[in-house]
Amino acid sequence: MICLTLSESTIAACVEKVRQEREYIDMAELRLDFLTKEECAKAKDFPSLVDLPCIVTNRRVSDGGRCQLSERARRAQLLDALDGGFKYIDIEEDLKRGELDEKAERKGVRIIRSLHDFNGVPDDIFSRIQQLRSRADVAKVAVTPRGIADVITLFNAQKELEGIDKIIIGMGPYGVCTRILYKRMGSMLTFASDSETAPGQISARDLKTLYRADQVDDKTAVYGIIGHGVLKSSSPKIHNPGFRGIKYNAVFVPFEVDSVRHFFALAEHLKMRGFAVTVPFKIDVLSYCGNITREVKQIGACNTVVRTPGLWKGINTDYYGFLAPILKYIESGRIKSALVIGAGGASNAIVWALRNRGVRVTILNRTLERAQRIAALNICQYDRLENAKAYEGQVDLVVQTTTVGMDGWENPVEGFEFTGREICYDIVYRPRMTKFLSDAAAKGCQLHFGDEMLIAQGMLQFEAFTGYHYPRSVKIDLS
Ligand code: NAP
Repeated sequence: MICLTLSESTIAACVEKVRQEREYIDMAELRLDFLTKEECAKAKDFPSLVDLPCIVTNRRVSDGGRCQLSERARRAQLLDALDGGFKYIDIEEDLKRGELDEKAERKGVRIIRSLHDFNGVPDDIFSRIQQLRSRADVAKVAVTPRGIADVITLFNAQKELEGIDKIIIGMGPYGVCTRILYKRMGSMLTFASDSETAPGQISARDLKTLYRADQVDDKTAVYGIIGHGVLKSSSPKIHNPGFRGIKYNAVFVPFEVDSVRHFFALAEHLKMRGFAVTVPFKIDVLSYCGNITREVKQIGACNTVVRTPGLWKGINTDYYGFLAPILKYIESGRIKSALVIGAGGASNAIVWALRNRGVRVTILNRTLERAQRIAALNICQYDRLENAKAYEGQVDLVVQTTTVGMDGWENPVEGFEFTGREICYDIVYRPRMTKFLSDAAAKGCQLHFGDEMLIAQGMLQFEAFTGYHYPRSVKIDLS
């Protein structure tokens, strides 16, 4: 079940929110601590105004909520709400059994006993869940994994606590995968919100339509992307609709990762079939691959890992993904020379792809040593970024591979005079139109966008993951 946590301040706004999100949710949690005092008095009316089962909660500040009332007043609000038709009430672990439990039992309201830990995952989490369950109908723990080792502990709950009615939530960036794969922990529901009432929450729409979290079962093949900051990755928007397009019971999940070693252990635990790799792990994963392709050997980095019988295989789809939109121009001789701006991980693969196709390359980078290293590996020229103007009118292709332009309206080769003849390609995909491309467009250059490379490399990953071409019927929407 997908449960929407409501953070509106009035009952009318909560009802409206449920109406807007209704097609994505199975339950709603009314948070009294977000309501004004006057609106709290109307809480008992809420269940009759919506057509789904409701939880009532009044979260203290110490548990991540907003209720600053005395304990007595806080409980009084909950007691009053129990006169409405709530299906569940959430009562914190440390509250002694009392009038709340008694009234809930009299009214047939199921009791959730909850534990919150914003600093980690308790070592004795399984016995804590058992204790909570012994005092209530459902045990709930909302804990904060500090890394993938803690995430593995949470996924062990399915086996360790089989048959126990429980809700398990991993908060924070490492916990995001547990919110999507909640059924793999044996959790009866996952919470959704677009206003982050708890760290790492995902919108109900994404849980339902992008990840289809409520449809994950024991047979669902799990894929994902690992790296830092992957929660903003566009890859789930490529792979999940693709899986649906070929009617494949699979899900693609972002995994924020601290340790590649631990992640491979998690991948075994979840019986993962493959995953995409991004910064900073494109080199680290190589030690765990029993087989790597020629491109990975040559580039020294891998952006895709797939399970093959007995071993993990490392692939590099950035290489072909980058070439896909411009290959015809290289083959026709329209592109014979290129200026590659930047000398990071992506540049390394791009320079190799261009050199392999016989294109003359000059690398420009802020840090000269990095440009020098890639140039030595690929037998090409390099120079300082500030010397860019020396190459005006000299090249057929200008590729922008730095991170400049991702976070601001900036061009790393500001003032570079395009002749209008150059093909200009920025691999930054968010925003789609960067200052670099905008400056090139103003001079009439042909443009290629980062999302072209992203989609092309993603489609190749899809083939490596599934053995099927990416379905033509699926229109990829990266917005
Ligand atoms: P990276 O390894 O961290 O390299 C970053 C590059 O940006 C380095 O050359 C760095 O220069 C340069 N740089 C950073 N800040 C700069 C500044 N203020 N001025 C000048 N240069 C600066 O990153 P990466 O993995 O290569 O990724 C680079 C970009 O490509 C990212 O935006 C990423 O999202 C994008 N990308 C897109 C695709 C796609 O499919 N479209 C695939 C891969 C990557 P120094 O060496 O001097 O630090």
